[in-house]
Amino acid sequence: MPHHNLQSALWPCLALACWLQTAAAEEPKPATPARPAVVIPVIERAPADIAASQRQRTRNAGTRVAAVTATPTAPVAEPAAPAAPAHSSEWAYEGENGPQAWAKLAPEYAKCGSGERQSPIDLRDGMKLDLEPIAFEYRPSGFKVIDNGHTIQANIGGWNAMRVMGRRFKLVQLHFHRPSEEMIDGRQFDMVAHLVHKDSEGRLAVVAVLIENGARQPAIQAVLNNLPLEKGEEMPAATNLDLNQILPENRRYFTYMGSLTTPPCSEDVLWVVMKQPVQASADQLNLFARLYPMNARPVQSAAGRMIKESN
Ligand SMILES: [Zn+2]
Repeated sequence: MPHHNLQSALWPCLALACWLQTAAAEEPKPATPARPAVVIPVIERAPADIAASQRQRTRNAGTRVAAVTATPTAPVAEPAAPAAPAHSSEWAYEGENGPQAWAKLAPEYAKCGSGERQSPIDLRDGMKLDLEPIAFEYRPSGFKVIDNGHTIQANIGGWNAMRVMGRRFKLVQLHFHRPSEEMIDGRQFDMVAHLVHKDSEGRLAVVAVLIENGARQPAIQAVLNNLPLEKGEEMPAATNLDLNQILPENRRYFTYMGSLTTPPCSEDVLWVVMKQPVQASADQLNLFARLYPMNARPVQSAAGRMIKESN
């Protein structure tokens, strides 16, 4: 905070700016059109504090600064204030920065609109084959949990891998969507876990485990037990995570080529969707829903892609 003679006169404005800042940091959704109208009068009443408050808002809510500076009545950012990043409009699941707008939010998100092998899809009419079983090489491992503003994610340490289609992929992280992004014959599930793997050449393979209401899920509980208090901060867990526990008993699966389901929507992702859902308790589902009531991209066109499925 700046120190000068006007400080006491500006105090109410500073306090309000701090409140707005806090509200911005806690608000996961993009700025609504009504928000800038609240922010602008504060700036106009306290021009001496513009630089400081803009710098603070830039750090805490890039979205909001972009909305404010784009308004004709708002002052132009001073040279000292760092410029908002090119894609300061943070992507979201609903509202004006929702999935329909992702491709326009940043040049590197173009695939979200123009891609032809996007995910998720509604899995139906697969080619039924005797697919090789996937070899899961999972073992209890250390992990860290992060709330990245779009989902809860567990970054996995140690060596966990799976072998499929002649390649071996290392497990990197898992995260959740509610409801499930994937559909099977038009059916959506309560949630889905995405287990993201990468091979030595950087190719991605994601295993999707559908989740329905039922018994308590020990691996999900281990992740929830280690939820960090602050967004964007990794919380190292004191216990291990055994992801064999989140795999369904029946290992039949669908497989197809798709994309990341979040920006930048990069393609050439190998998807493996387990056919049998696993269960999580109502308490577990409700707990996740308190954090992320809706964080699923709508299904994309399968566009004649080959879908294989286990007999
Ligand atoms: Zn995902």
